[in-house]
Amino acid sequence: MPELPEVETTRRGVAPHVVGHKVVDVKVYDRRLRWPVPADLAAQLVGRTVASLQRRSKYLLFRVGAGTLLVHLGMTGSLRVHTTVPARRKHDHIDLVFANGVTLRYHDPRRFGAMLWVAGPPERHPLLQKLGPEPFDAAFDADYLWRETRGRRAAIKLALMDNHLVVGVGNIYANEALFRAGIRPTLAAGRVSRPRLTRLVEETRAVLEEAIAKGGSTLRDYVDAGGEPGYFQLDYFVYGRAGLPCRVCGTRLKLTRQGQRATHHCPACQR
Ligand SMILES: [Zn+2]
Repeated sequence: MPELPEVETTRRGVAPHVVGHKVVDVKVYDRRLRWPVPADLAAQLVGRTVASLQRRSKYLLFRVGAGTLLVHLGMTGSLRVHTTVPARRKHDHIDLVFANGVTLRYHDPRRFGAMLWVAGPPERHPLLQKLGPEPFDAAFDADYLWRETRGRRAAIKLALMDNHLVVGVGNIYANEALFRAGIRPTLAAGRVSRPRLTRLVEETRAVLEEAIAKGGSTLRDYVDAGGEPGYFQLDYFVYGRAGLPCRVCGTRLKLTRQGQRATHHCPACQR
């Protein structure tokens, strides 16, 4: 599933080819994504110029005139830039064609993604309205986390993955940030001390930044590439390493489940 770093890398890969360019055609081959692609999408986009491409959580926001094209990659979605358009493959559902000759193609085998038109301010759209701060926002700091988690019995890992608290910290990055901060994933959020929350904010940002930096080396894969975009394999400390020795202390890493997601942790390093 594309996580925040993959979505941010998509934004950086796609933006230079579409921002400042006019849409000349919209081809919808299959409307059946998570929600139906709006029937008036072409009418909204054709003849208009993409003013900017932003990211909010795992949504891409193409600002076009007074409205916004909202794109979510779901479980298996990807966007590719083509300067010479290859034959349509299975699961290529939508083409946006630009005046500069670029075609932006949406591909999604499982069709859990979304492409929606938002007429008003996108931050008020129901999908975006209740989202917490971005992990890189100044608003996401230890004071904020401390205030929001006091009295909460939910495990700190589940809190960190809750979009209302902070967006874009998926399972891999929650596992890694908690290891690096030395915090046991099952500890009640309300019991994590302020200094440890400071550390958690730092490590959450660091692990996401490292993944985004890795993504930078794949930016060329967004243009005229045939295969699927890769996922950024960091040298994980704990994720996917259950049963192996901790890279720091050698203790055997443990695998548990929290909210149906795999939790990997070191019983010695994480308290
Ligand atoms: Zn350890």
